[in-house]
Amino acid sequence: MTHEKETDFQDIRVAVRALCEGFPGPYWRELDRERAYPTAFVQALTEAGYLAALIPEQYGGSGLPLAAGAAILEEIHASGGNGAACHAQMYTMGTILRHGSTEQKDRYLPEIAAGRLRLQAFGVTEPTSGTDTLSLATTAVLDGDEYVVNGQKVWTSRAEHSDLMLLLARTTAKDQVKKRSEGLSVFLVDLKEALGKGVTIRPIRAMINHATTEVFFDDLRIPAESLIGEADKGFRYILDGMNAERVLIAAECIGDCRWFTEKAVAYAGERKVFGRPIGQNQGIQFPIARAYAQSQAAALMVRRAAALFDSGEPCGAEANMAKLLAGDASWAAAECCLQTHGGYGFAEEYDVERKFRETRLYQVAPISTNLILAYLAEHVLGLPRSY
Ligand SMILES: Cc1cc2nc3c(=O)[nH]c(=O)nc-3n(C[C@H](O)[C@H](O)[C@H](O)COP(=O)(O)OP(=O)(O)OC[C@H]3O[C@@H](n4cnc5c(N)ncnc54)[C@H](O)[C@@H]3O)c2cc1C
Repeated sequence: MTHEKETDFQDIRVAVRALCEGFPGPYWRELDRERAYPTAFVQALTEAGYLAALIPEQYGGSGLPLAAGAAILEEIHASGGNGAACHAQMYTMGTILRHGSTEQKDRYLPEIAAGRLRLQAFGVTEPTSGTDTLSLATTAVLDGDEYVVNGQKVWTSRAEHSDLMLLLARTTAKDQVKKRSEGLSVFLVDLKEALGKGVTIRPIRAMINHATTEVFFDDLRIPAESLIGEADKGFRYILDGMNAERVLIAAECIGDCRWFTEKAVAYAGERKVFGRPIGQNQGIQFPIARAYAQSQAAALMVRRAAALFDSGEPCGAEANMAKLLAGDASWAAAECCLQTHGGYGFAEEYDVERKFRETRLYQVAPISTNLILAYLAEHVLGLPRSY
């Protein structure tokens, strides 16, 4: 079976697949059962340099394009693993790279590239704002040469496995800004330093093994130089990074599509009921064929979005469509893979139910399907804003 994206970055793909062979189904199953962090896998990826793929060479990374990052994450997912434990280490640094000061770049990027510092916690979502990011209520108030942070984040993934956190907080009250999108600022918070001194992290037990948490800020004092870029302009900086995130996560969905399709085809060919392979029935083969076609189309959009991003052209529409189409394709592939396996799809040892749960996330996070549709309707098609 040939898949659309398998033709680029062949060397990287082969090497990532070889690395993933060391972390087969039982590894992920055991972690899933215990809700444990895949430390050995993340260490192996770090040592191989894959998490520093997008960091420019001058800071010790590989300086590869986004399309290469997409290939890495796609292969991890196609091999049955999950990049969510560390994918943010690849792209969260982009905010420092694009908007940080020379001093911040020189200080942090080489350490992140070497894997000595982990920047993979991203604090945006809050219990009362959710999708409506501009209503977030966590505040950062300048007091001398420090900011004092108060508030709460939720669904902050990997916070317990991160040295640094990119935090979006309000620096000017909502009723005092000229534009709705102003008044928020981005900070680089030293989590290890802050723990117990104004930061509390509580794990959330979730449907999937995602190391996700709630983070509480209670008079946390951070140095004023933790601010990235200009105060009150943070929302724009965060938006800049979202296209890269969407493309990379869409690539993970394409990897999931490949895994589900290959599993479904193999099982449909070997499982015999009524004396013939179940895959001979159109009721089994058509959904697999449809999911395959969907995944191929979505992969083309992922590739297109990555190419636009890498050439520095606007790619908001394509990045969003890539995420939407790839998320839908992986969910369709998951559904037909589970159905093809019948009762065995529910058995842990086939890994189908785990991957099924994992790929369901992409209908909701990092942006929900509805909000992508609202973006396309308003910003691409010119329809009235719906919210
Ligand atoms: C496992 C996991 C990991 C996550 N990791 C992170 C992380 O690391 N950092 C972080 O900041 N966040 C993270 N998130 C949060 C994620 O980005 C949000 O859950 C997501 O943006 C949706 O916000 P919400 O859950 O508050 O849903 P809500 O905003 O409450 O929305 C609920 C539902 O209503 C729909 N809805 C809302 N408004 C509209 C509208 N105007 N039109 C149509 N439909 C609408 C949404 O699409 C959604 O289906 C994570 C979430 C999960 C589940």
